[in-house]
Amino acid sequence: MPPPVRLPEKKGDRPAHTKSAAKKLKRKRNAEEFQLLETRVQEFDGKGVTAFSELPLTKQTLAGLHKAHFKTLTDIQRKAIPLALKGRDVLGAAKTGSGKTLAFLVPVLEILYRKKWTTMDGLGALIISPTRELATQIFDVLRKIGREHTFSAGLVIGGKKLKDEQEALHRMNIVVCTPGRMLQHMDQTVGLTLDNVQMLVLDEADRILDMGFRTTLDAIIENLPKERQSLLFSATQTKSVSELARLGLKDPEYIAVHEAAASATPTGLDQFYMITPLPEKLNTLFAFLRNHLQLKIVVFMSSCKQVRFVYETFRQLHIGIPLLHLHGKQKQSARIDITAKFSAAKQSCLFSTDVVARGLDFPAVDWVIQLDAPEDADTYIHRVGRTARFEKTGKALLFLCPSEEKFTDRLTSKKVPINKVGQKNSKKQSIQNQLQGLLFKDPELKYLGQKAFVSYCRSISVQKDREVFKLEDLPLDEYAASIGLLGAPRIKGLKSVDAAKMKEIKNAPRGLRALEGASNDEGEGEARNRKESRTKYDRMVERKNINVLTDHYANLVQDDRAEPDDEGDFLTVKRSGYDPDIPGPAETPSRTFKIPGKEIIIDSKRKEKMLKSKKELVKLKPKGTKLIFDDEGEAHQIYELQDEDKFREAGPAEIQRRKFLDEEGQRVKEADIGDRQLAKEKRKEKRRIQKLRAAEEEAGMEGSDEDEVRVELVPYGDAAYDQLGQDGDVEEESQPKRQKKWFEDDEGMERAKRKAQKARGRVIEAAEAPEDLADLETLASGLIG
Ligand code: ADP
Ligand code: MG
Repeated sequence: MPPPVRLPEKKGDRPAHTKSAAKKLKRKRNAEEFQLLETRVQEFDGKGVTAFSELPLTKQTLAGLHKAHFKTLTDIQRKAIPLALKGRDVLGAAKTGSGKTLAFLVPVLEILYRKKWTTMDGLGALIISPTRELATQIFDVLRKIGREHTFSAGLVIGGKKLKDEQEALHRMNIVVCTPGRMLQHMDQTVGLTLDNVQMLVLDEADRILDMGFRTTLDAIIENLPKERQSLLFSATQTKSVSELARLGLKDPEYIAVHEAAASATPTGLDQFYMITPLPEKLNTLFAFLRNHLQLKIVVFMSSCKQVRFVYETFRQLHIGIPLLHLHGKQKQSARIDITAKFSAAKQSCLFSTDVVARGLDFPAVDWVIQLDAPEDADTYIHRVGRTARFEKTGKALLFLCPSEEKFTDRLTSKKVPINKVGQKNSKKQSIQNQLQGLLFKDPELKYLGQKAFVSYCRSISVQKDREVFKLEDLPLDEYAASIGLLGAPRIKGLKSVDAAKMKEIKNAPRGLRALEGASNDEGEGEARNRKESRTKYDRMVERKNINVLTDHYANLVQDDRAEPDDEGDFLTVKRSGYDPDIPGPAETPSRTFKIPGKEIIIDSKRKEKMLKSKKELVKLKPKGTKLIFDDEGEAHQIYELQDEDKFREAGPAEIQRRKFLDEEGQRVKEADIGDRQLAKEKRKEKRRIQKLRAAEEEAGMEGSDEDEVRVELVPYGDAAYDQLGQDGDVEEESQPKRQKKWFEDDEGMERAKRKAQKARGRVIEAAEAPEDLADLETLASGLIG
């Protein structure tokens, strides 16, 4: 977090050391100035103003605005600022790029100034933004226009050490934050109080008030004083009474400057849609970019995996325009870096999720392409709003599958003027073969392609608008082929999460979840603050950008604290909480090892060794509980699905329990006898085959080529088995041979083999090829035992 902005105090603002007459005079003048300003504000009717200088503002704000080259007011600023200066609650609605940021920042500075706010008064204004990028942008504007003020302001967005923010928070007067991170501070920052907050600002208010942030925002509001001023701004403002009641707005002034306008989108924006069959989408995008190499373009997709797949493949196809990609799962430093790069770029194409859909003011974007349709018309309006900002022009193109054409009705009903276009035949090209080639050569890309496919299907399946988005109408096999996959990957459990739930999961503060040990906005990467010991595997997988499979590897070693993958991976192998490679924290003399329901203190080498054995661990762990899955794929305890009356008929619970245990015990005993018999037969059969092979080798040896002599290890005897089991090398009877470990080379493997044989008291050294028949005989007879 940047250090709180503290602007140098003017000499004249600082109290003098001696109580001179001059000081008294100055104080009097100051008081008079304050009084005059207050009267000006209350008497100001805002009619006919065009410039900031005509508003009743402090000289500090006016100087900041002047230095940032803001002179004339935009419509929303002209209407909202005077009301907000009078302390009214404001609901501001104005098109994208129309200057809403200043419409709330100017009043924030002014109100706090008029309330003579100082560092001692603590937090006076809370500005909430749905994404880290937008919060950063608001903070930058605040820094520019507030440079002449003496308030301290801070950015609280996560992705950094909580502790650094915690220390600075106590000194802040104005905080620009994301909801999740703010809530995390409210939970964890000792002494942070919001009791004195005078102003609450929600930028992109409808987004913050929707389901995705509901619980988080409610928790924040609960801690704010009832007596406060609220300013809510968005291009798609909510007027829902219940939503506004949640915020406790008092007689809010609704200012909708473009309500009577013919369109909900900027006038300088040309909007088109193209009906493109799903399997043609990437081809069309590729052809489009090839034909627009000199421009600045944002391409929206529905998921992080899509973004990564298209970015990685198009990069390798050397499309000819600098490519960037941005999504909520990147490291904060990468997000900052990419946002800055794209802002500064003249020609570039940014592939992104909706993390940049709202509020971001990238200069001079020429085109906004929506490869995947937005969830609703509001999201569409925000996405296209990344271009044609503040009196500039821009173009937008929306790709719709033939089954999604009805989406245009949603747009027209929201006053979005959009025209249908087609693709010239001469410009068509197919990249399917190239993609197939790339995926064939690179398994990581293939894996990413599969994930992108699944996440696309998932995004369609969770859409609210079922009339427009129908997964069953999409040609999925052809789509899979078009992105270079041989066959469509299986998709599991698609209907288990609805769109609202998905949003809530995504927006929930990660830091808090990590802390609660619970089981992913575009935003908050605070989980990295975990202080627990990190293993070398953790560090290995945390090193992002190693390759596209890093996340996959991360899943393979995911521990119990890790976050769930919102894209719903099929397979996650959980690692046990204990890692023998990691010494316990230096300050704690005895280490502990947690298993569900138990904590074992590792106080001896023997115990440590014991805990390395999975066999031993199984003995310690509690027995599994039987769960039943319903039609939705949700797990339930058996009793949840049982008829209560029937259960009562069957007699008292304790008797039923005992009966069940007896029956199951009997079944286990019987199954055990069968298993032992089977295992015995298997061992017998293996020994028979081994003898047979040895006999064959002995017989065929005379004419054989020396180079072809191979020595097979005999199967383990029972005794050796037990001994090996204690070394933790053998897990199951059906897998007696030790697998080569990933860190071992062949030599290591051989050593292990010899060790295993020694354990059985029988070593047959065959490092060198036998030279004569006598050697071979000795060897074979050794093998037969
Ligand atoms: P919105 O929040 O409505 O989408 P922003 O506040 O991000 O719009 O402003 C869009 C652009 O317009 C920004 O680049 C900003 O610097 C510029 N802008 C805003 N107000 C003014 C003004 N009064 N004069 C000149 N430029 C302005
Ligand atoms: Mg904005």
